[in-house]
Amino acid sequence: MADSGLTFVRVREEGLPQVPGRSITVTGRFGARTWAQQMATIFIEHGVTWNELTEEQVAVVLGAVHRTWSERAGRPEESALDRAPRLAGEFLANRTRHGVGLEWLSPGAEDMILWRCATCSHEWTATVNDRAASGYGCNTCGTRRAAKKRSTPKPGESLAETHPDVADEFVRCLTRPEATPRTMRAGANERCEFRCSAPGCGHVWRTHLPNRTRPDIRSGCPICARRRESKVGRVRQGRSLQSDYPALAAEFGGCTEEPDRTADRLAPNSALTCRWHCGECGHTWTSPARMRVKNYNRSHGTACPDCGHRLRNSNSKRQGTGGYGQGGAGTG
Ligand SMILES: [Zn+2]
Ligand SMILES: [Zn+2]
Ligand SMILES: [Zn+2]
Repeated sequence: MADSGLTFVRVREEGLPQVPGRSITVTGRFGARTWAQQMATIFIEHGVTWNELTEEQVAVVLGAVHRTWSERAGRPEESALDRAPRLAGEFLANRTRHGVGLEWLSPGAEDMILWRCATCSHEWTATVNDRAASGYGCNTCGTRRAAKKRSTPKPGESLAETHPDVADEFVRCLTRPEATPRTMRAGANERCEFRCSAPGCGHVWRTHLPNRTRPDIRSGCPICARRRESKVGRVRQGRSLQSDYPALAAEFGGCTEEPDRTADRLAPNSALTCRWHCGECGHTWTSPARMRVKNYNRSHGTACPDCGHRLRNSNSKRQGTGGYGQGGAGTG
């Protein structure tokens, strides 16, 4: 054939036995692409015009080839779309065989597909098999769903149910805006905004939810706390109603605003309203602690408003106003 003026060049895969004549050995993957590239060098050598195709043109050509091949081979008995119809809305491109759609592929096909999540628009590649047969979905949505499931409370465990007082003051969640007292657990480490529900306060402040719900913290409105602190006074060096005024402490029946407060934790100059029980007639009345202490020190006694029974202060002369003065942090 060489005699008739034809030139032979072999384009061959690596590792084949030597043959006479000119041959080009292709190393690595031997596909249509590499074969065409070798042909190009030979054509150009012989003065033939060669048009290099763009990626898109190659895709169109290969797409046509693959489609023709698929149509020849026929549709699979069950296609990936038959198995998972929702994938139609997430299919972007077949990276392995351009132009071949899911209707031509079996659910177990290993073609790499570019997908776009219908929910979050995240794009990723995975095989047809991964999605149609194994049922894997969008990773981004999966992570989000798992996090949401972890933080969603079971019935009876929501903040609204376990801490209705805190839920009442909830304004919004800053770290997870869609969260509400019904969708959060009391222990959720979210930063939230609260509005104080105390009459006349309405102060708005921000803190992490556990600061309000953890039993060892249980913080509330900082403005009200400061107001209360100044009202309560501080029990200094153990000097309390109990230690300094045992006679009054015997009539002490609790603070109306702070039911947990006991006489040994109440400063004698506290402005907290307290209940008092007359030891003589059993009459109950309310008065700030510091008013009773003041009367006790000044008038050498403080009386039951009902029966007039008087608690005598035998030390008042010696102490002067000392009992009141010493007990006290200055209150405002
Ligand atoms: Zn997604
Ligand atoms: Zn407040
Ligand atoms: Zn009385």
